Amino acid sequence: VVDWIADYLAHPERYPVLSQNQPGDLKAALPFSAPERGEAMEAMLADLDRVIVPGVTHWNHPGFFAYFATSGSAPGILGEMLSAAFNVNAMLWRTSPSATELEEVTLDWLRQLIGLPDTFGGVIYDTASISSLCAIAAAREAAGVDVRQQGLATSGAKLRMYASEHVHSSVDRSAITLGIGQAGLRKIWCDDEYRMDPRALAIAIDEDRANGWQPFCVVATTGTTSATSIDPVPEIADICDRERLWLHVDAAYGGSAAVIPEMRWVLDGCDRADSLVINPHKGLFVPLDLSVLYCRRMDVLRGAFSLVPEYLRSGEGDEVKNFMDYGPQLGRRFRALKLWFVMRYFGIEGLRDRIRNQIALAREFADWVDQSEHFERLAPVPFGLVCFRAHPLSIKEEAARSLEENPKLPHWSRDVEYVENYLDILNERLLEEVNRRGKVFLSHTKLKGKFTLRLAIGNIRTTRDHVKLAWDELNEVLGIANRE
Ligand code: PLP
Repeated sequence: VVDWIADYLAHPERYPVLSQNQPGDLKAALPFSAPERGEAMEAMLADLDRVIVPGVTHWNHPGFFAYFATSGSAPGILGEMLSAAFNVNAMLWRTSPSATELEEVTLDWLRQLIGLPDTFGGVIYDTASISSLCAIAAAREAAGVDVRQQGLATSGAKLRMYASEHVHSSVDRSAITLGIGQAGLRKIWCDDEYRMDPRALAIAIDEDRANGWQPFCVVATTGTTSATSIDPVPEIADICDRERLWLHVDAAYGGSAAVIPEMRWVLDGCDRADSLVINPHKGLFVPLDLSVLYCRRMDVLRGAFSLVPEYLRSGEGDEVKNFMDYGPQLGRRFRALKLWFVMRYFGIEGLRDRIRNQIALAREFADWVDQSEHFERLAPVPFGLVCFRAHPLSIKEEAARSLEENPKLPHWSRDVEYVENYLDILNERLLEEVNRRGKVFLSHTKLKGKFTLRLAIGNIRTTRDHVKLAWDELNEVLGIANRE
């Protein structure tokens, strides 16, 4: 298996990035029931190649540019293998002191690396969705509503939280899961660059208080999912201070960039947050899953969750951390090992070089887009993501001609709508065809109603050649000779 993995990682490009499977292909290739007798590992590995690999979308392929591209780097994979071999349950300190203390050490290393003060403690969860859920549960605890004992319904509180209209859907899900409800999450207007408008936030809070709501939490985002925009955390922190609200920062994607000194600014104001999530499994070359929640009020987080049945009582007292106290789950994997491997193997310098390179590649791609007559950029590029779309010269010329001929606004706006619809369809087809060809894989979003292509650079194996290949594929499918 180790040899198989080494070979796979050495040649991910032999596969199409996006699986070409049709729904049901894998299910049809496997027997209805489990085998009666154990089988040979050789047969299992043969089926891995025959049945499983074709149905894999290769996130480890350097042509993977979709969603937020991530990397299972070799040291991270080796750390993961060792943690599977140990198979410890890191619920209590005594159930594996190394797991608990390594979690504390690596999270402290990472905290220093992204420039958060030592007033923040940390805990590892599986995903940012769960990190944010736990942070918002702590915010609810801090709101002074006795949800633990009474439940929300009996407490009668009408809790309200706030986030920008570009917040990740995991925050909506937290609101649903925690009984805040979607009605309890108010989305705040964004400016032209998709950043939360703090004035709109302040007005919303005033309005809600006047209408009997109890505001308790604001979620700001550093690196939104669609466009990697950065909410103005310092201004939002001022409002949270004034209004005594919990400030949670979703830096799941953007936080990793703060490892580079010249990008530290992306976390400006976050030292004043109550909690912040960063996903090493997104931007720091750690294999899924590993998300970190930093919290300035670990006692409140603990207060939201801690419940110790008799069989889990242990005698170490406050001298040690029992991480089971900081979330809804009891059993916990030894995830810190893979983070430790990654940080030690690459070192701070190695991590910085790689992240710097990814951001530089994204900027170069953005330059190609800006210089092309047939594409246009739809958002700034602070990190490794470029949002853009095809907008061929012929369409622009036709629209300009039509505007000249029909300068009256009603005509013109109908034409704009027509062109926008056409561009949406064109870009959707372009994306489908580029992905179908299998050399690269991009994804999409909608920005200001426009179908937007997203090229996310985050894979550790992606080089300039792969980015150029993506550009060539886009131009070729669009039927335009790329002169770059
Ligand atoms: N927050 C942001 C900004 C994201 O982009 C994402 C996913 O892409 C998440 C949270 C959720 O991450 P996870 O898959 O770790 O739950």
